[in-house]
Amino acid sequence: MAKKLVFLGMGGTIAGTAASAADNVGYRAAQVGVDQLLQAIPTLEMALGRHELVSEQVAQVDSKDMVFTHWNALALRVCHYLAQPDVSGLVITHGTDTIEETAFFLSQVVPTALLESKPVVMACAMRPASSLSPDGPRNVLDAVALACTEGATGVMVVCAGTIHSAQHVQKVYPYRLDAFDSGDAGPMGYVEEGVVRLTYSWPKTEVIRPSISHEKLAQAVWPRVEIVTSYVGASGAMVRALCSAPQGSEGPLCGLVVAGTGNGTIHTDLDAALREARALGIQVVRSTRCAWGQIIPPSVLGDGFPHFKGLSPVKARIALILDLLA
Ligand code: ASP
Repeated sequence: MAKKLVFLGMGGTIAGTAASAADNVGYRAAQVGVDQLLQAIPTLEMALGRHELVSEQVAQVDSKDMVFTHWNALALRVCHYLAQPDVSGLVITHGTDTIEETAFFLSQVVPTALLESKPVVMACAMRPASSLSPDGPRNVLDAVALACTEGATGVMVVCAGTIHSAQHVQKVYPYRLDAFDSGDAGPMGYVEEGVVRLTYSWPKTEVIRPSISHEKLAQAVWPRVEIVTSYVGASGAMVRALCSAPQGSEGPLCGLVVAGTGNGTIHTDLDAALREARALGIQVVRSTRCAWGQIIPPSVLGDGFPHFKGLSPVKARIALILDLLA
């Protein structure tokens, strides 16, 4: 029986178009359907080998505008397809701006048993589909090579021939084609001429939050968690404003992630406001604004704010949301 490789379209620059083929920045993301994108890759059929192609447009969004309903829809489809015995893996086309958040989210909510048996490869592009030399087709072919590699499992991002795990990937350049980095962990590997060379093994899904099923997620009211940063002259004004703001459609504030300086340190004035917020029942979690490395907590935490080991502020926010939901 031929195995299926499923492509889920989410939008992004990879599906973007500009008025001029020479324009790689003044484009509109999320314009071209996933079917049309795939049809435009002449060697895709060869790369798929004996795999049957299945595709579905789950969303069509510039990933800077992604919201929780997009994530719910995606998680449901990912779980649906991974559970089918004749599906060997998934490729998701997605915008680069928040791909690290979606990848981390999926790694936390898709059942471990599914992720430890099949790959979910996220592909993206820094140039729109209309570009004179788009990078999307190459990235999709690399994603196919990765998804079809024997033993491939877990959530990964592939861009510019480099493979990153959901846990470590971070967008670090606004314009370069090779826009991502995995920090201290380094990339998981590379795709070279359609062949995967791993630098370390397939990612083990490190589930950080207590488990919550994707079905429960789809019905839940997601708690509002915001991010504040510590810097020179930081005050408590932002936190106090967030705590006292009249409740809008986004719901009451439930959690705060503070992107601290260095080893997660926080300006005294901001720290005072965060303690007031905590006293009101708002969960406060610490991260660092340092791009890489991880907070080393003191041996006695005292009444300091806890942290999620090594998670960037945006990923710590996801972990806290899932924690609150569970
Ligand atoms: N704003 C775009 C997006 O994230 C950027 C990209 O895909 O490169 O959808």
